[in-house]
Amino acid sequence: MAEEAAGQERLNKITHLTADSMGTEVCSIYLFRDDDTLELCATQGLNPEAVHQTRMKLGEGLVGRVARTGKQINTADAPSERGFRYMPETGEEIYSSFLGVPVQRLGEKLGVLVVQSKTKREFTADEVYALEVVAMVLAEMTELGAFVGEGAALSARHTQAVLLRGATGQEGAAMGHVWLHEPRVVVTNVVADDPEKERTRLHEAVDHLRVSVDEMLAGASGDTEQMQVLEAYRMFANSKGWMRRMEEDISRGLSAEAAVEKEQSQARARMNQVTDAYLRERLHDLDDLSNRLLRILTGQGRETGSEMPDDPILIARNIGPGELLEYGRKLKGVVLEEGSVGSHAAIVARALAIPLVIHAERITNEALNGDRIMVDGDQGIVHLRPDDTVVAAFRDKLAMQAEAQERYASIRDTPCVSACGTRIHLMMNAGLMADLPSLDGSGAEGVGLFRTELQFLVRNQMPRRTELAEIYARVLDASKGKRVIFRTLDIGSDKVLPYMRRIEEPNPALGWRAIRVGLDKPGVMRMQLQALLRAANGRPLTLMFPFVAQYEEFARARQEVDKAIAREEKLGHALPEKLSIGAMLETPSLAFASKRFFEEVEFLSVGGNDLKQFFFAADRENELVRRRYDTLNLSFLTFLESIVARCADTDTQLSFCGEDAGRPIEALCLTAIGFRSLSMRPASIGPVKSLLMRTRLDEVKAVIDAARDAGEQSVRSAVLDYLREAS
Ligand code: PEP
Ligand code: MG
Repeated sequence: MAEEAAGQERLNKITHLTADSMGTEVCSIYLFRDDDTLELCATQGLNPEAVHQTRMKLGEGLVGRVARTGKQINTADAPSERGFRYMPETGEEIYSSFLGVPVQRLGEKLGVLVVQSKTKREFTADEVYALEVVAMVLAEMTELGAFVGEGAALSARHTQAVLLRGATGQEGAAMGHVWLHEPRVVVTNVVADDPEKERTRLHEAVDHLRVSVDEMLAGASGDTEQMQVLEAYRMFANSKGWMRRMEEDISRGLSAEAAVEKEQSQARARMNQVTDAYLRERLHDLDDLSNRLLRILTGQGRETGSEMPDDPILIARNIGPGELLEYGRKLKGVVLEEGSVGSHAAIVARALAIPLVIHAERITNEALNGDRIMVDGDQGIVHLRPDDTVVAAFRDKLAMQAEAQERYASIRDTPCVSACGTRIHLMMNAGLMADLPSLDGSGAEGVGLFRTELQFLVRNQMPRRTELAEIYARVLDASKGKRVIFRTLDIGSDKVLPYMRRIEEPNPALGWRAIRVGLDKPGVMRMQLQALLRAANGRPLTLMFPFVAQYEEFARARQEVDKAIAREEKLGHALPEKLSIGAMLETPSLAFASKRFFEEVEFLSVGGNDLKQFFFAADRENELVRRRYDTLNLSFLTFLESIVARCADTDTQLSFCGEDAGRPIEALCLTAIGFRSLSMRPASIGPVKSLLMRTRLDEVKAVIDAARDAGEQSVRSAVLDYLREAS
């Protein structure tokens, strides 16, 4: 294989050698020409005319079945096997025995390797193993470009345009070049002549690995989740079974790194089939550990010598919020193989306004550092190594966005007044220091929601009071007197602090979260209130409690504020010149609370993300249902209108701060039914303002009422029709 030869010639030679040494009449190599078509690329024994002519779909015939399932088929009587397909052009009907093994690399399917013979017999375990090793070598060589030739099936890997469909993590579009969070380890020597030497190399590397895992454990901060992962690492690093399998691979001729990769590949294949979340996590641990071992063996570190491009788009299987923050705003976009909409990384990406696509399968296998890539966060699509027409279309899209941004910049400092003269206050959501520059840049009139939990989520340990006080003070400094609504710690549900004991709950979204935790375990809330009061240092302060479901919770939380103030007073610290206390309306129950509640609470902010999930009983994190119900559904709008009416009745200020506030059509309907303050991502302020300023809210209100009278389910199409006609 090391010989210089063209790809096709190498493949031919491999089929010839394999058939010869296995004593079979036939050996054939099938490779993928596209995602679901296999092509016969070389054969010894079948009709040579069929090469590059015979093709089959994934799952079709025995070869297609091996490819689909990733499992070998070993049969003495192929024609009577389920799914056998006779292909006259290959003249294969006379062969009875069939052994097919998948050609795959790190869980990625590349093709199928087959031997066939006339004698009716099953292949022995040793023979199966031998063929698997050949398949593995084939896979590595395919990755290294050894079989490049004519036609799609022999095209070089990592050179073709690939379109990947994932899901939206954060809207926006970006174009740039790939930067891999975890550079890929390349194994160049698959087979080795001296098993003894390879065994020694493996042992030394594993010893090294064990020591480093022990060191990590010794240095761990005591955080339980991290400890669990490290314990799992230690267990794998000391696993006899893992070691034994790798030693066997070596004694059969593989190099130490190929043995590690073979086991890793099998773990990945299992990972794709396991649905149990815990087991999947453990298989991921094993995968990480294998990567570490490969780095030790190959000497390839994270430093690959390649330089981060100017316009990096980060590619990772997953990434923690802290790591993402370290890259910060220099990233143009992020693509994750896993991730979820509510993950902390997604929250950070959103705060940094970086387009994010999640669930982009295969991306870490497919992308190479420096590849051109385009990320469409609106559609959840990634174009890797796009061809020029796609690039041109994408450039147009970016240009249109840039043009719109320019338009928005021109109205940035104009107050938002609708075409019918209604003044609307547009605020921004924030939570990280990185958000602060947006206060000036976006034209926001203040921070309508400061998610204080983000500062807790991005750390490995509980922040100290003085640290928090400094951060809050910097936020107030940056706001230059504009209002900042600090929401007290909103944890639980999807927001789990890495250093807090994880509590297993049957349904976390309906569980022990936000103010419920704050009231049951008031220590952290007290510390936070104190930090906020000290940060204000005499300046006005606005606080808001999350997830209040009934009056009593609000009253108790308020008492905590009173106590904190009394303590500060006693200590002789400055008290806020003005203190406003509000609550988030995130559960339907609060909309029906007593009048007393509405009178006592200074302001309410509708947390539409949560309120909507409880109104429709549709989990905001669950891809199967989260888009099922339209925010502009009239049941929901009517419900929101009733909240507007209750607030008007008691003169309670009202705003809306869920994601919907940042969607122009939704924002239009919310203001039409009476919301006068909206808080949204900074990037949404321009588009929302631009639409509100051009539109008559009274007319939109009439459209909504007419749709309700007509018995419509949602007002979306009626409002869109109205806007089309009005423009
Ligand atoms: C909401 O629920 O709408 C909200 C703004 O809070 P979060 O998204 O942080 O739960
Ligand atoms: Mg919420």
